[in-house]
Amino acid sequence: MSIDSSEAGAVAEARPVALVTGGSRGIGRAVAVRLARDGFDVALCYRSDADAAELVGKEVRDAGRRVLVRRVDVADRDGVRGFVADVEAGLGPVAAVVASAGITRDRPLALMSDDEWDTVLRTNLDGTYNLLRAVARSMARRSAGAIVTLSSVAGVVGNVGQANYSASKAGIIALTQVMAKEFARFGVRANAVAPGFIDTEMVASVSKSAVLDRIPLGRFGTPEEVAGLVSYLLSPEAAYVTGQVFRIDGGVAL
Ligand code: NAD
Repeated sequence: MSIDSSEAGAVAEARPVALVTGGSRGIGRAVAVRLARDGFDVALCYRSDADAAELVGKEVRDAGRRVLVRRVDVADRDGVRGFVADVEAGLGPVAAVVASAGITRDRPLALMSDDEWDTVLRTNLDGTYNLLRAVARSMARRSAGAIVTLSSVAGVVGNVGQANYSASKAGIIALTQVMAKEFARFGVRANAVAPGFIDTEMVASVSKSAVLDRIPLGRFGTPEEVAGLVSYLLSPEAAYVTGQVFRIDGGVAL
């Protein structure tokens, strides 16, 4: 595991700490910036684009918050555990977790390679498990914490050409519900967000003209709109909300 930058921008006093995976771009980036503006210090990890991740780090610092940016493969269980330990040592106990790292390797089921199946399940489902497992006991000990996982409408209704992705996202819903049930007694909440088409690099190859007529609201969503929902779910206003799946999809899965 290589470390691309360490804690920086110690311009502000310690605040509640949020940890965001997949924070270098797309939804994770928007969430990291939104949570910084909400008053969280932010730890974020990413897979490959160090420059993009450092730019997000700068946005967090510009919001007056502390930030820790690191390259961590969420499929690497020991790497995730080490990351969480370093975040808690460097920034403080993690109060909020957003599991946004995710990938697609689309192909019809009959043609899917074992590697395409394994890679998506390891990143999306195992990666989410690795993170939740790594933070759960510490949150329970402190009787505080809120978790948001990134599922997808594909995990609710299935999507042609996405057997691996849909299965991983359905698994994330079940994992989140179990976490909510097991940890409610410790004051820890867990909810899943299930976006439809959100304008990020993940869907850059999707032809908008081919899918827009399936979306009742007639457009793709923005990462910032998803970040707004995540922000609410992590806030005290959502104190009575746990174990739920929130579609944010312009009505595409109606
Ligand atoms: P994106 O491809 O723009 O960004 C993905 C992020 O995850 C990047 O920061 C990348 O570095 C990180 N990442 C990927 N693999 C990783 C790994 N193994 N370890 C650590 N980090 C890794 O994707 P996005 O559109 O922002 O999607 C974010 C989440 O939302 C994903 O879980 C995705 O499945 C889900 N989602 C997205 C959409 C959409 O339309 N964009 C719809 C439904 C669900």
